[in-house]
Amino acid sequence: MSLVFEKSVDQRRGYKNPALDVPAAGKIDAKYLRSEDCPFPEMSELDVVRHYTQLSKLNFSIDTHFYPLGSCTMKYNPKFCEASARVPGFANLHPLLPQLKDGERLTQGALEVLYDLEQWMCEMTGMASFTMQPLAGAHGELTGVMMMAAYHKAKGNKKRYIIVPDSAHGTNPATARIAGYDTISIPSDENGVMDFEVLKSKINDEVAGLMLTCPNTHGLFNSDIDKIAQMIHDVDGIMYYDGANLNAILGRCRPGDIGFDVMHINTHKTFTTPHGGGGPGAGPVGVNKKLEPFLPVSRVVKKSDGTFALDYDYEDSIGYIASFYGNFALLLRAYAYILLLGEEGLRAVSDHAVLNANYIKACLKDKFHLPFDRLCMHEVVFSAKKQAERGVHAVDIAKYLIDQGIHPPTVYFPLTVKESVMVEPTETESRTTLDEFIECMLQADLESQENPGMFHGLPKTTPISRPDEVKAARELNTNYFTQ
Ligand SMILES: *Cc1c(COP(=O)(O)O)cnc(C)c1O
Repeated sequence: MSLVFEKSVDQRRGYKNPALDVPAAGKIDAKYLRSEDCPFPEMSELDVVRHYTQLSKLNFSIDTHFYPLGSCTMKYNPKFCEASARVPGFANLHPLLPQLKDGERLTQGALEVLYDLEQWMCEMTGMASFTMQPLAGAHGELTGVMMMAAYHKAKGNKKRYIIVPDSAHGTNPATARIAGYDTISIPSDENGVMDFEVLKSKINDEVAGLMLTCPNTHGLFNSDIDKIAQMIHDVDGIMYYDGANLNAILGRCRPGDIGFDVMHINTHKTFTTPHGGGGPGAGPVGVNKKLEPFLPVSRVVKKSDGTFALDYDYEDSIGYIASFYGNFALLLRAYAYILLLGEEGLRAVSDHAVLNANYIKACLKDKFHLPFDRLCMHEVVFSAKKQAERGVHAVDIAKYLIDQGIHPPTVYFPLTVKESVMVEPTETESRTTLDEFIECMLQADLESQENPGMFHGLPKTTPISRPDEVKAARELNTNYFTQ
């Protein structure tokens, strides 16, 4: 497929401005004018429409393909939620509108959405308060860890370390470092959870807190969690819950009830919003009473007359971490999603997420090595080590799936498992789709026995097959058209 610049034809136009029929409004100073023409492509409207429509068809997305990525929930986003975010009264709201003017409730609806969402998130997680401000999961983590630091500072605690298990999402240790802490990494044991004895040996008075994903990125729940929380609290440490993928436990277990003090949620994973291509996101952060005074501003409050307002008056607050209302349109989608599903529907989310992952595990475990053969939660980690012995590696299986119309699962992460293939089917897929995926994986295994050489030319259905990733990184050229 050629690039838009290659399709350009000299003097071809999609639209021409009419001739000026009013007096010209003065001249632009010559020093601001271009000396050469700008190399925009010259095309007709039809050329442009075809070009971009064809490009869009090359996309892998939830709306076109099954997307069983592990560690980062990529599930169907109901169109109802999209439509809700486009309601003009919300979509056209200016962030600087006053809350109330001459008796008109200008932003009251938006504030009520934020207020209700906060109450619901508290209810779902067992936390005392939430801030809707953070703009992504990682931003939520930073907000949470900044509150952790503010807590220690207020108490005069001298703290240096944050403990992170080796199976953690990369944003966890990165967050700890950016907030000024050193990290202590805890290896996983043979059951796929943080090694309890090693953890115990690493806890000391300088530990500020522990960041934990539970279930972790092996898809496994840590059943020692109450003991762990006790040990961290004994040194006045803070328990941080990475709730990016809350679909594993929604309606079944609340982080606030099992010892966590602070957590973030990725609305763009658990509560709808497309997030391919890295954004946008929203990472609300919940805290218990211990950390409540440190929440960022603004906070949405309900006044005694029933109206809502933004409140900035918190003397221990860590301050601003985002402007205005956070990523409001995303929060609005989350609000719509929660209303759409209701209490029973939200509980069904975790039922189906866990059932689907275990179904795939059961159907594939005879052919794909299972490093941790136990009940998993919303995702399951296989290893392609048997196939690798035949010369077919995890990456080859990923490429094979592309040709079958399936987005590859996460491969080579978590780093704790060699040749890892990490699958999260999510709660939104039907049994039919899961069976198709299973069939493809079994076929890949069969091909690895009968025709291993075939894999190395895959994928065949994409415009580019296997780019040289090392060369692309070492000889990066983003200025192709201006050179
Ligand atoms: C996605 C994810 C994050 C980071 O969230 P972003 O919104 O991408 O910044 C953190 N932790 C876990 C477990 C995740 O899956």
